[in-house]
Amino acid sequence: MSPASRATTHRRWPSTAFLEELAAILFNRYPDRDAVALRRTIGEFHGVGLENVFAGNGSNEVLQALCLAYGGAGRSVAVFEPTYALHSHIARITGTAVVTGERHADFTLDLDEVARVLRDASPAITFLCSPNNPTGMVEPAESVAAVMAGAPGLVVVDEAYGQFAPRSAIDEVADDRSLVVVRTFSKTWSMAAARLGYCVAPAWAVRELEKVTLPYHLDSVKQLGGRLALQYRAEMEARVAALVEERGRLAAALAELAVDVWPSGANFILFRPRTRDGADVWQQLLDRSVLVRDFSTWPRLEGCLRVTVGTPHENDVFLSALREVLA
Ligand code: PMP
Repeated sequence: MSPASRATTHRRWPSTAFLEELAAILFNRYPDRDAVALRRTIGEFHGVGLENVFAGNGSNEVLQALCLAYGGAGRSVAVFEPTYALHSHIARITGTAVVTGERHADFTLDLDEVARVLRDASPAITFLCSPNNPTGMVEPAESVAAVMAGAPGLVVVDEAYGQFAPRSAIDEVADDRSLVVVRTFSKTWSMAAARLGYCVAPAWAVRELEKVTLPYHLDSVKQLGGRLALQYRAEMEARVAALVEERGRLAAALAELAVDVWPSGANFILFRPRTRDGADVWQQLLDRSVLVRDFSTWPRLEGCLRVTVGTPHENDVFLSALREVLA
């Protein structure tokens, strides 16, 4: 999609308010080290205090802070594959061992396997991802509860795609529970370029995360942008609703084709051509100017492709290209 046509699908941002406040920033001064206004605004958005909010340069940095604070030499994190690859990658970068548990063949959590991993490895952090990237599947509340009951350390639920899903763990965060929920401005807020993410966490965990963070890590422009973006909740929710509707249409159309499809609570759908090689289908879609994500050679995801839900027109182009390729 050309930059010009992309611009037409979004309400213009930055807003006038953003540009006005930008002009008032004193660029010779350091930013607010504690990002008080930003964290307070995020807290109000979720009905918690600023002491329950830690923000970082993208949610990847929040995940890194969690691993720095709670992981490290002699400790481990648990992940259940397939899941977001950066959980184990960031853990390893911070010197934390990674213990991998398997899911059921349908990619749902295997609670016996979860219990085994938690008992054998006693991980400092147990990562869940809901909706899970790349499967798109939402963790049932019972699965999160079972993990919470068995985990000896922190349970981190990565909800980067949380607003696309019918269910969230964010309301379960409390100061007497070892639960952290990670969110980002990169997806539903359409602000990937700003690099801003956060977690809602018990106040004691936020204090630990602050200890491993470099001073002044959030610049003034980012703090301002994040704070103002939250005033656009209605626009964000309208974008999410339109996308969820398109996701339903896309999933229904895929179900008519010779592909396996996984139920998605995210802004993408994982599918596997039943009669054709995944990589070959990927190439033939590309030959028709349709780019999907190729997971066909990833362990546990053999033959799988992941399509991002686009505009109605983009989805139509994808569907007719796929029908042609599979014919
Ligand atoms: N978590 C998940 C599950 C993701 O898919 C992504 C981005 N692909 C991130 C976290 C990181 O997002 P960001 O650093 O842009 O906030």
